[in-house]
Amino acid sequence: MDFNLIINAIVFAAEKHKYQRRKGFNQVPYINHPLKVSQILSDCGEKDEMLIIASILHDVIEDTDTTEDEIICNFGKKVCDLILEVSDDKKLSYDLRKELQITSAPGLSENAKKIRIADKICNIKDIISYPLIWSNKRKLKYIEWSQKVFTGCRGVNPDLEALFMKTIEESLNKLQKRS
Ligand code: ZN
Repeated sequence: MDFNLIINAIVFAAEKHKYQRRKGFNQVPYINHPLKVSQILSDCGEKDEMLIIASILHDVIEDTDTTEDEIICNFGKKVCDLILEVSDDKKLSYDLRKELQITSAPGLSENAKKIRIADKICNIKDIISYPLIWSNKRKLKYIEWSQKVFTGCRGVNPDLEALFMKTIEESLNKLQKRS
């Protein structure tokens, strides 16, 4: 694992997301999210350098002004391709983007599926643990949608999938207690 390249990816993502906050999540700095996604992958035994770097950078194309060329120059084409696989096309409507995440999931590469699952785990944990002005109904809808995306991503890492299931179970328990 190229330690220097990992540090460069963290700094690159921090710089790109520096003025962003997690929407609705009480001003939490955006960078906390991709770092947690990479931590989940690492905790679940993932050691592939390209995967870890792409997970740190997974939202820079979708949510910042970062270009594909910038990623290719700094981290290579494979990392760029992987990020593109998990980037929504913001030109499409919200509903269509959500639908596409479900329908495209089975056709993603293994590494893209891993990022997708870790991303959903992280988002669900945040939705449950951070103060968030979402109704329980909206939170449940997000969890249901995530489960559909997850179904198309299965078969890539048993520990990661077990963590997803555990997160869903704990989240549903917490939501039921609140309602
Ligand atoms: Zn994300």
